[in-house]
Amino acid sequence: MIDWDEVDTVFLDMDGTLLDLRFDNHFWLEHVPLRFGQRHGISTGQARAQLFPKMTQLRGQLDWYCTTFWSKELDLPIIELKREVSHLIKARAHVESFLKYLRGLDKRIVLFTNAHEDTLALKMEKTGLEAQFDKTITSHSLGHAKEVQAAWSVLDRVYDFDPDRALFIDDSFSVLDSARAHGIARLFGIKMPDSGGDPLSHPHYTLLDSFEQIMPRRNTS
Ligand SMILES: [Mg+2]
Repeated sequence: MIDWDEVDTVFLDMDGTLLDLRFDNHFWLEHVPLRFGQRHGISTGQARAQLFPKMTQLRGQLDWYCTTFWSKELDLPIIELKREVSHLIKARAHVESFLKYLRGLDKRIVLFTNAHEDTLALKMEKTGLEAQFDKTITSHSLGHAKEVQAAWSVLDRVYDFDPDRALFIDDSFSVLDSARAHGIARLFGIKMPDSGGDPLSHPHYTLLDSFEQIMPRRNTS
């Protein structure tokens, strides 16, 4: 499926790709409305009705991923609330063996995430994955969400890599579109980013059921 000899750098998304999107979906769809409703004396349903249009409007923009923005906007301590449900932060299946496999092939492994730095820190604390990456890049540090071409232009300036010899895995189709527009040669999506959600499909992108699909069987453990 992949000729690994042709790949130098592997860019990996975090939420929904390496980590189960269950946490994020539960957090934004259930936990934030619950706490917002409690704070403002309204029901969780009323809170959803207030919050969701705003969330939908900002989806894919840097503010959508910014805990500082939401803490101020909702008058809620977002990162503290994330800690309340942080038992849901989990790596997806075979992530550790996949990262070890890439390490064994001596690939450069880059975590490239839209997550805000404090969310990234919480997730690395909970999963212990940070040591597996050669570099961690947040879209906040680039000034643009990955959905935006400008993010890739800035990435090109700050990180030396060859798009022809890069692989990028991300559960977001709009992010994959953005990576493709920038010329990243190899792209994969994720079939089931949220373990509690429905499987996705796409007419063009190959969506991975499991990272084992791109690891030769003898190297899996
Ligand atoms: Mg993602």
